[in-house]
Amino acid sequence: VTVSLRPARAAGAIGVRAFALVFDVGGTSIRAGLVDLAENTLVERLARGSGVVRRRPGVRWNAFVQTLRELGRTLRPHGEPAAIVVGFPGPVTSDGVALAAPTLWPAAPVEPFPLRAALEELWPSAVVDVVNDVTAAGFAYLDARRRSFCIVTVSSGIGHKVFLDGVPAVGSHGCGGELGHVVVDTTSNAPVCDCGGRGHLGAVASGRGTLRAAQARARTARAAFAASGLGRATDGEPARITNALLARSFRAGDAWTMNVVRPGAARLGWALSMVQSVVGIEDFLVVGGFATSLGERYLQEIAAGAERASWQSPLLWTRRLELGALGDDAGLIGAARHASMLVAER
Ligand SMILES: [Zn+2]
Repeated sequence: VTVSLRPARAAGAIGVRAFALVFDVGGTSIRAGLVDLAENTLVERLARGSGVVRRRPGVRWNAFVQTLRELGRTLRPHGEPAAIVVGFPGPVTSDGVALAAPTLWPAAPVEPFPLRAALEELWPSAVVDVVNDVTAAGFAYLDARRRSFCIVTVSSGIGHKVFLDGVPAVGSHGCGGELGHVVVDTTSNAPVCDCGGRGHLGAVASGRGTLRAAQARARTARAAFAASGLGRATDGEPARITNALLARSFRAGDAWTMNVVRPGAARLGWALSMVQSVVGIEDFLVVGGFATSLGERYLQEIAAGAERASWQSPLLWTRRLELGALGDDAGLIGAARHASMLVAER
């Protein structure tokens, strides 16, 4: 099933044909899309800031479900959808129970919630599925040639999913694919992860983790920092370092910036080499805002770390790694493809 992206046209144009509603939930925004199932086309989409979920009074999960309902109504005020697919930023069990939602409600632990059941109640005639957001993005990259691969996202955090012959391998509890929360630094002063754990890969190598490392290094050796490309771009002020400036200096080959990015990239490479050793995956798609902004040179740093951790296999790591081309659209496109598959199987 291929889903194409079309420039938005009137949702009414799909008339009485079967349609699906798909959602890609993130910490910053919730994207929603309307899928024409006859044409496998995402015909309409909109986004709303995720803050609306946090500002709503009442029970957190209720507020979230009501937000999806409103977005669905806005996209398609009349008619019942044939399918609903939600890409959710947290672990989701095989029966659609969301186990955690740190991206949606930072620093506010929530009870596990039967999200799929709640949406089935809202849209009783639809086939409903809730999957992890990285899984949803993975569906977008799945094709006849790419059936077994690992998608790894590097943005404010790190996550990954392994697809084996087209099926995401996450286990019945949905806990597979959480490379970002593996401990890679056991020292007592290792950085703390957003989940609260210490020394997790996500704390060391994510966009947020790398920014923290850059600011710490800049503060301990200010003169060296001030003389660097990134130092000049920030008037030698560590607090002025942003991920955007860091990415620009990295792409320009600034040695100071590359030295800051390298350790995290190498740890990520080490982790990917473990994935390759365990399941034999040879195809790694690197996605996420931080990775995309650093570009191809970042892949070379990851590859170098993976090479050092691997046995001398005939496949070069630089050929195994690829930047995802779909950008922020991957989650919605993947959810749309999954919706089409669910309806076809029904
Ligand atoms: Zn963690």
